[in-house]
Amino acid sequence: MTATPLAAASVAQLEAEGVDTVIGTVVNPAGLTHAKAVPIRRTNAFVDPGLGASPSWHGFAIDQTGIAFTEDVGVIGDQRVRIDLSALRGIGDGLAWAPGSFFEQDGAPVPACSRTTLRRVEAALATAGIEATIGHEIEFVLVDPDGRRLPSTLWAQYGLVGVLEREAFVRDVIASAASSGVGIEQLHPEYGANQFEISLRPLSPVAAADQLVLTRIIVSRAARRHGLRVSLSPVPFADDVGSGAHQHFSLTTPEGPLFSGGGGVAGMTQAGQSAIAGVLGGLPEAQGVLCGSIVSGLRLQPGNWAGAYACWGTENREAAVRFIKGGGNNANVEVKIIDPSANPYFASAAILGLALDGIQRNATLPPEITVDPAKLSDSEQQRIGIVPLTQNQPDSVAALDNSELLRTILGNAAVDVIVAVRRLEHNCYGDLGPEQLADKFRMAWSL
Ligand code: GLU
Ligand code: MG
Repeated sequence: MTATPLAAASVAQLEAEGVDTVIGTVVNPAGLTHAKAVPIRRTNAFVDPGLGASPSWHGFAIDQTGIAFTEDVGVIGDQRVRIDLSALRGIGDGLAWAPGSFFEQDGAPVPACSRTTLRRVEAALATAGIEATIGHEIEFVLVDPDGRRLPSTLWAQYGLVGVLEREAFVRDVIASAASSGVGIEQLHPEYGANQFEISLRPLSPVAAADQLVLTRIIVSRAARRHGLRVSLSPVPFADDVGSGAHQHFSLTTPEGPLFSGGGGVAGMTQAGQSAIAGVLGGLPEAQGVLCGSIVSGLRLQPGNWAGAYACWGTENREAAVRFIKGGGNNANVEVKIIDPSANPYFASAAILGLALDGIQRNATLPPEITVDPAKLSDSEQQRIGIVPLTQNQPDSVAALDNSELLRTILGNAAVDVIVAVRRLEHNCYGDLGPEQLADKFRMAWSL
């Protein structure tokens, strides 16, 4: 895996190319993408001092109106969203885009800011001599402009027919990604009707999450050009498979990669094994960060390839942690439980923070699971140490709230606001059935 940051575009060059508007985005703890736009001549003001935003942005809920207030998130105060000029790029039709982070008016970073949190975890890894790369996958379902199901008479799981039915959209996404510098490694129709997946080029953690946000923008704009919309819900339709947002990570030290060329199981190094052990052990507490929305539990079922069991296995698609040997030095670890309702920056920060914790305390890797865990009886699962992950949102949110480990990794301000937005979802909508939930929130994360 290589770690090239997203290349910057110069403001002058973009202006000469006809860009008139710069959009800056931030992702909040509920996984919502917020934005402000400026005329290109105001780009530098968006960089510093930044544009005003209420602290309540962190608490905006997925129902279009709710705000989850915490000690830090209220109606008083004003923060600044500053865009990162080093990641600015043209995205076509006179638009440019850059990812943003939150700062206080005095310039101090805001503790609940997910991008800053991930940057901090990336720096902690660097201090330990470890470089991380992350490869994101994006799964989504195409729907009509009102969020209704599209016809699927012509559809097969992973079928060529899906590419041909949506040929113009597919080509548009690939061409737009190329011209915006987004590295698409592959695009394919998925298992669910009108569901597609894109795998993105691995990058360093913050750059990779930025690239994911940009890809969602690109896919959503392309869909509109073809009279379509994109559902980024973990479960767009209650009776169909869900959409994941799997993250692959690899770790390297100056001595070489941690997941290949070692003397341990499946060619891992001891540190690589401990990294996976750290992630595995922390999953029940991190679930609220990785797949904590009110609809997430509907996806996390055995048989959905969503990784409903906290265990690991080489190429095991039912394990929450799938080890991929790859070729040469490409071995990496896929965390399958993450879904698109998660804030991708917080999700990466949680995973990498757990991996670092595992390495630092020499955590012992449990045995590899080489079968579908659902095929084992409860007692066999217990004997081998396989933990079924909860589908009950209040349980996963409580586990996060009570987690000293996640509080150390992400910080109290971040955990408190993630817990608050997810509790609001449960308090307001916890009595809805699966179908009502899927219908209500199908377009909640759409761009
Ligand atoms: N759609 C599945 C999920 O919800 C993943 C399918 C796959 O393994 O690509 O995670
Ligand atoms: Mg997939």
